[in-house]
Amino acid sequence: MKIAIGADHGGYAMKCVLLSSLGAKATMIDAGTDTRESCDYPEYARAVALAVAKGEVDFGILVCTSGVGMSMSANRFQNVRAALCATVDAAVMARQHNDANILCLGANSVSADYAAEIASAFIATPADASERHVRRRWLNERAGRLSDASGLAKADPEIFAAIVAQTEQEDTEINLIASENFSSRACREAAGSVLMNKYAEGYPGKRWYSGCLPVDAAEELARTRACRLFGAEHANVQPHCGSAANMAVYFATIKPGDTILSLSLDQGGHLSHGSPVNFSGKIYNIVPYTVDRKTEMLDYDALEAQALEVKPKILLTGASAYPRTLDFKRIREICDKAGCLMVVDMAHIAGLVAGGAHPSPVPYADFVTTTTHKTLGGPRGGMVLCKAQYAKALDSAVFPGMQGGPLENIIAAKAVCFREWMQPEKKDYAAQVVKNCAVLCKTVQDRGYRIVSGGTDNHLFLVDVKTTKGITGKDAAAALDAAGIVVNKNTIPYDTESPFKTSGIRVGTASVTTRGMKEPEMIKIGTWIADVLDNIADTSIQERVKREAKALALGFPVP
Ligand SMILES: *Cc1c(COP(=O)(O)O)cnc(C)c1O
Repeated sequence: MKIAIGADHGGYAMKCVLLSSLGAKATMIDAGTDTRESCDYPEYARAVALAVAKGEVDFGILVCTSGVGMSMSANRFQNVRAALCATVDAAVMARQHNDANILCLGANSVSADYAAEIASAFIATPADASERHVRRRWLNERAGRLSDASGLAKADPEIFAAIVAQTEQEDTEINLIASENFSSRACREAAGSVLMNKYAEGYPGKRWYSGCLPVDAAEELARTRACRLFGAEHANVQPHCGSAANMAVYFATIKPGDTILSLSLDQGGHLSHGSPVNFSGKIYNIVPYTVDRKTEMLDYDALEAQALEVKPKILLTGASAYPRTLDFKRIREICDKAGCLMVVDMAHIAGLVAGGAHPSPVPYADFVTTTTHKTLGGPRGGMVLCKAQYAKALDSAVFPGMQGGPLENIIAAKAVCFREWMQPEKKDYAAQVVKNCAVLCKTVQDRGYRIVSGGTDNHLFLVDVKTTKGITGKDAAAALDAAGIVVNKNTIPYDTESPFKTSGIRVGTASVTTRGMKEPEMIKIGTWIADVLDNIADTSIQERVKREAKALALGFPVP
């Protein structure tokens, strides 16, 4: 066992006694102070709290005259639960009920010998795993989700209210929006950090401003981690969003009026792939390809024939609503035959690619664009990966081509996200997203609903509610929303409804998997979806499902 111990001048003498009495039971790490001279307690609280927060030690002990200042300081740090105890009983309870990890002691409240007894009891008592204590600890953590923003309660009550409402919504609703996920607390800490204060036009080592060493370090980590995670030769982590990532690739490679062959929006493509209302459709000559009318999947032979005829500069693949695996090797063959660049927009599936649950486009494509906030679960943002030969053109397309100062706080959060994806458990996560999606899809399908393309290989599927029930995607999504289940209306291939009504809904499992749900929960959720859509006008079913969905959601904490 390892214990970090710290004290100010008021607790110095007691710390000396504890060091020798606990030394036989644990490795003691002494964070100071080393004299009786007056000093500032927050410094020692910070050293011990950070050792606990980093997981370098099992417990911390902090001593000052009353113990109060130390406990206040220590409890400002994430993952620290500091308890000021004046009795053995209180120390035992702090461990059992609250899983306290730092013991604070007041040198004027207890004798040094009794302090040693309190500390021995503290480190010897395990946390109680009974349901009510686990629940209360979780409620404490949940309050922590809000405490990140609690300064706003006074500074800006209206914005604080919006954050409270979003937190409440995340906690209590079942989110099945395929393009969303829950960011980790670590990501949000980086995103909300002081790195947002820095102007850093340019790239690490070649900036237009002084004082960029800290942000250079962060951006370099993001770039190298992105390359390592995806096996890419070069990464640009500056694009503000996925649309900007696509714009950067177009700007780096082709001229206005050049031809892009891309999946049309109403078949699962993205606005930035050439929609007439988007910059891409206004600047370039867009030729859309479609999925096969029967299978509702890509027909690679048809795509090849079209590419040979159209002779595009770019063949763009990747989608916002395509439930099937993409064959990147085959797409590369098509691009080679047609003599065009292969660009893959993996915005939706990036997390599956990172976790090995979908083949990677990186070995095949000239450019891979992505968002970092969908299955990848990082901060809202974009990124481009490319072969080394395009690095210079890409970087100057982003800056100075289309953006000014990069969002270094968001770039740091991207780095945090990439590091998280290097942990082995993320492979299990990605696999579970796909397994959950298959089970959820089958549950809905078994209730008689037509699934576009007959199923799913990835994190999302499309339900054809029009053919099945004669209702629109808009009405289906509204009824599910009233039942605490959040999806979005979505066009399906060859849709006869307008994009505002649609014939389908899109359902994804990245968010529910992030909160730890597995196959049994998917069966419950799929059953609720069918219950609500079977009787779309029956509000009593919606109310019943909303109650049950909320109870389920509360059992699976959002990070
Ligand atoms: C979400 C998405 C994007 C980009 O989205 P932004 O909102 O601009 O970040 C780009 N391409 C595809 C395929 C997407 O699904």
